[in-house]
Amino acid sequence: MRPDLMHPEPSALRPEPSALRPEPSALRPEPVEGRFGFIPLTSMPGGLGRSGLITTPHGTIRTPAFVAVGTKATVKAVLPESMAALGAQAILANAYHLYLQPGADVIEAAGGIGSFMNWHGPTFTDSGGFQVMSLGAGFKKILAMNTAGLEDDDVIAEGKTRLAHVDEEGVTFTSHLDGSQHRFTPELSMLIQHQMGADIIFAFDECTTLMNTRDYQEQSVARTHRWAARCLAEHLRLTRELQPRPYQALFAVVQGAQYEDLRRQAARDLVSLIIDGSGFDGYGIGGALEKHNLGAIVRWVCEELPDDKPRHLLGISEPDDVFTAIENGVDIFDCVSPSRVARNAAVYTAYGRFNVTSAACRRSFLPIDEDCDCYTCIHYTRAYLHHLFKAREILASTLCTIHNERFVVRLVDDIRDSIEAGRFSEFKIDFLNRYYRSSQPSGR
Ligand SMILES: [Zn+2]
Repeated sequence: MRPDLMHPEPSALRPEPSALRPEPSALRPEPVEGRFGFIPLTSMPGGLGRSGLITTPHGTIRTPAFVAVGTKATVKAVLPESMAALGAQAILANAYHLYLQPGADVIEAAGGIGSFMNWHGPTFTDSGGFQVMSLGAGFKKILAMNTAGLEDDDVIAEGKTRLAHVDEEGVTFTSHLDGSQHRFTPELSMLIQHQMGADIIFAFDECTTLMNTRDYQEQSVARTHRWAARCLAEHLRLTRELQPRPYQALFAVVQGAQYEDLRRQAARDLVSLIIDGSGFDGYGIGGALEKHNLGAIVRWVCEELPDDKPRHLLGISEPDDVFTAIENGVDIFDCVSPSRVARNAAVYTAYGRFNVTSAACRRSFLPIDEDCDCYTCIHYTRAYLHHLFKAREILASTLCTIHNERFVVRLVDDIRDSIEAGRFSEFKIDFLNRYYRSSQPSGR
């Protein structure tokens, strides 16, 4: 095995333009032997932010790291080789969607999620809790909800039928695909995620909304803790039973909505949860977060977590959120926005976000971002992308997703470099000033 594939150097994650065309042999890191581990490296003075290194059986992840989202075992519209070429370090798939289709048994028979989707780097699956609970609340986007004045444990979106019911044992829900009835329990979530075989998996948690009452949030945090204990016990049992498979790391999920005491207590309780000498390998921060309290919630939780375990923030969206999360102690985060907005023609640049279907792009023969080193920016113009969207050609989604994914990967690489060079604050101010104060699209 080539040593440079086992431990990618920074240069390997920031391809030179000539390296952006996929060369499969160079882009396929082979699985390496070994257990999960985390090494904190540089800490930000006086803060919780840090850089570090996660090791998994399928390669290393330099943190802080952005984990690309491939919900149904594909980053929509983009080849895995292209994801590797743009510097993506890991991909997160969703246990709920893959359980319903094609089924965890199919993925297990294929040799696990990585083999199934032809991604040979580190993989994550999330537990499905968020998706199942979203059915219950009738909402998809907790972060974007306007919750002013609302507080109701039974609230559902207007016109939607409640599709999930929580009880102590688990959740009963109706498939969004065909209306069939299913039941998720902590034990089943562990079995499914072991069948899928991702390097990092998450405990099954109850994901509440910001509209639930304080009383319900307390009950829910307690239930999530009991479910976490059941997940850990089942995870340890399955790990023993399924040896000698590559080790899968289990992360607990800290809930507690917007309440500091609940968040801190939930974190402390999960850290002290040990079964047969084993605890959780890392921690996720989940649930109801809003932009204005994202930093505070992340800080409360990370202050309670041990330094030698990685912390994952489940689902954020915008560049300023990335800075906020990282400086408050997050090591890894997933984010569906780069690909989701790309398919709607919205692209990120150092000077802000714009839409390539705007009239200003019709005859603009500039790349999306002249400073970007992605495949799309090297080979294509705004005018061509404008044309593809107008003509409803599917290549438009591919090219814009490659650019947006590269933008976020590069942003997080630059943040990591700034932490290691001791200039995070300067980099943050400089980046955010340019990103949020510029007018797009035609200025550059
Ligand atoms: Zn680009």
